[in-house]
Amino acid sequence: MLCFLLTLFLIGTVSFTGCSFFPAARAVPPASAQSGEKTWKRDPGISYSVPPGVSILMYHMIGNIKNNAAVMTADNFRWQMQYLKDNGYHPVTMQELYDYVTKGAPLPDKPVCITFDDGYEDNYTVVYPIMKEYNFPWTIFVITGQVGTANRVTWDQLRDMKASHMVTIGNHTVSHPKMHELSQEEKQQEITRSQAALKQELGLDNPWFCYPYGDYDEQIESMLKAAGIQMAVTTDAGRVRVGSYPFELKRVWIGNEVNKARFIERLNKDNYSIIS
Ligand SMILES: [Zn+2]
Repeated sequence: MLCFLLTLFLIGTVSFTGCSFFPAARAVPPASAQSGEKTWKRDPGISYSVPPGVSILMYHMIGNIKNNAAVMTADNFRWQMQYLKDNGYHPVTMQELYDYVTKGAPLPDKPVCITFDDGYEDNYTVVYPIMKEYNFPWTIFVITGQVGTANRVTWDQLRDMKASHMVTIGNHTVSHPKMHELSQEEKQQEITRSQAALKQELGLDNPWFCYPYGDYDEQIESMLKAAGIQMAVTTDAGRVRVGSYPFELKRVWIGNEVNKARFIERLNKDNYSIIS
């Protein structure tokens, strides 16, 4: 028994410290069916520490549609990624964020987490090439019932992004409903059927979830846990820290109204200015 416990401890220690102090080991893709690298390959010279907080940036669509706050121009998005690179920011994976929030694991200096909601086609045609250029890991939350429909990514595009190990793919339900308007049975199906689609189409045992319209409650959280979800993001404004409840993570809205000064303060300031 003691031996068994010791083995467990050693495995836990190696996997925990391995993320931070032995970057070369991270070149090997994870053996699990999870998409994206669990931890990202970075220059071994980058130092790691436990930051007081991390911003999870929330993006939606990239394009030139006017009067839609959720649509951001490609030029603006590229400028932001260039800013992150020029100023030493390090985008982190969902798994790195999870280990930070739940275990206090160290993150690379100036960490930031980049998420895209809804699975728009531009996430593949515009965002993916830009992120490859910058070598930034990022996360896309897809509405599984809308994959392959007009203006949305296809399963083949998702398979391509998954194979890159750069993109983590998470669950954003089957049909993007307002969850509180559904029956218990319907809520259940929105969660389990989307999990099943991610498994069937991408081979994923997916642990990440994003609430449509940021609509969550304890009942939905229990259903997520039963379906194998370990962490979920909301649309509540704010940053996350060690000890944040992993099923109610706050995020930082990013849109065209977020100008340069606002973008910069949203990367590292807890009381950043909210745009009304
Ligand atoms: Zn959404």
